[in-house]
Amino acid sequence: MRYISTRGAAPALGFEDVLLTGLARDGGLYVPETWPQFTADDIRALRGLPYSEVAVRVMLPFLGGAISESDFRALVQDAYATFDHDAVTPLVQLDQRTWVLELFHGPTLAFKDVALQLLGRLFDHVLEKRGERVTIVGATSGDTGSAAIEACRDRHNVDIFILHPKGRTSEVQRRQMTSVLSSNVHNIALEGSFDDCQDLVKAMFNDTAFRDKLNLSAVNSINWARIMAQIVYYFASAVALGAPDREIDFVVPTGNFGNVYAAYGARAMGLPAAKLIVGSNTNDILARFFASGTMAAQGVTPTLSPSMDIQISSNFERLLFDLLGRDGAAVEACMRTFRAEGRFTVTDAQLAAALEVFAGHRVDEDATMATITDTWRRHGGYTVDPHTAVGVASAAAVKTAPGRPVVVLATAHPAKFPDAVEKATGRRPVLPPRLGDLYEREERLSVLPNDLGAVQGFVTQRARAAQGVA
Ligand SMILES: *Cc1c(COP(=O)(O)O)cnc(C)c1O
Repeated sequence: MRYISTRGAAPALGFEDVLLTGLARDGGLYVPETWPQFTADDIRALRGLPYSEVAVRVMLPFLGGAISESDFRALVQDAYATFDHDAVTPLVQLDQRTWVLELFHGPTLAFKDVALQLLGRLFDHVLEKRGERVTIVGATSGDTGSAAIEACRDRHNVDIFILHPKGRTSEVQRRQMTSVLSSNVHNIALEGSFDDCQDLVKAMFNDTAFRDKLNLSAVNSINWARIMAQIVYYFASAVALGAPDREIDFVVPTGNFGNVYAAYGARAMGLPAAKLIVGSNTNDILARFFASGTMAAQGVTPTLSPSMDIQISSNFERLLFDLLGRDGAAVEACMRTFRAEGRFTVTDAQLAAALEVFAGHRVDEDATMATITDTWRRHGGYTVDPHTAVGVASAAAVKTAPGRPVVVLATAHPAKFPDAVEKATGRRPVLPPRLGDLYEREERLSVLPNDLGAVQGFVTQRARAAQGVA
């Protein structure tokens, strides 16, 4: 199995290098040269298997022999043992047509755990084999830092440094990060804004000597292995609802387009996923693209569903690569136009090809709140978070084939967004037992000034990669 860059000018890589590299050297994103194919019989054979076994079967072809099947099975089982639900990603039926796929039973109560719990273990396994160490640095506004920390905690060959703006995250968000006391986890509360945090992380990556000395790396949403791990639950849920002998539609609350691109991957592998419906909040660049064929950036407005507050969707480039006939030079030209002018347009034929598979839908703030209320009233007190509500509202609004099941991906636990949920339902959602004592836990963090030298000094002193021990 080889991976090629969407911009056509970086070397093709095998699985291990794609895992550790993230972004391709030509600025592109890696995609498989060809998609592994699952026949109807292969898919039927997944019926009744535990989630981790479906995961091994679906992902193994992507590894191209880089990791042995037994080692991989052990990593997968370990990753999904951290989930609170036996089924890992259980399905809940809302009405005759609609199911909710709960992806929030992991350590940080959001769907990113599904990919990141495996990613941390894959990193560690490959680094151990190579005798290498990496230093992960990242910035968070509060929402996604904890998933990266939980993924990397206690990994032998990984140190992680996450910068958050001091005093500007919610208490739950801060505690989810700072109560992880593992010695390889370093929380930095920066005396500055989220933009300052991001600027410092960028500056560290741009300092070549520093980057090489610390073997800097990131676990961001463009990493191929995250897409790979997300393909699994499309197979697991579709099979549970009758695939391959029945088509299924999926509705995905979307930000960076990683999750819904994984659905597209599952479809390319032979899963009968018929329509993929992209749910957007008021930051609706994708819904506008599917309506017009023009991708046009605007400013970002904060919403009730902050993980979908994006200006551009970085993983969309992977779909664009296919829409442009896998022509890397054409993708490069398109992205150059986008950088220069803030917009690009595809041809009518290319848009029509996208609409064979995708549909977009925008849900505003009032509709998001009304959907939380309505779902709770009509479905026996079932509570959805604001991101999931965008999906539920999109499912109701978009017409699909009669008799075909529609699966809405639930990307966060309602207790992650207690204020919105309480306002919509009159009840404050409770944290699940695993986080019930969050407010009593000891915290550890370091407050640093908004100063590159100070942050680099802090990282150098603590990162084991800088000490040359492997
Ligand atoms: C990250 C995230 C999303 C968006 O997923 P993408 O893969 O970026 O499209 C949606 N909901 C929640 C809760 C998230 O954390």
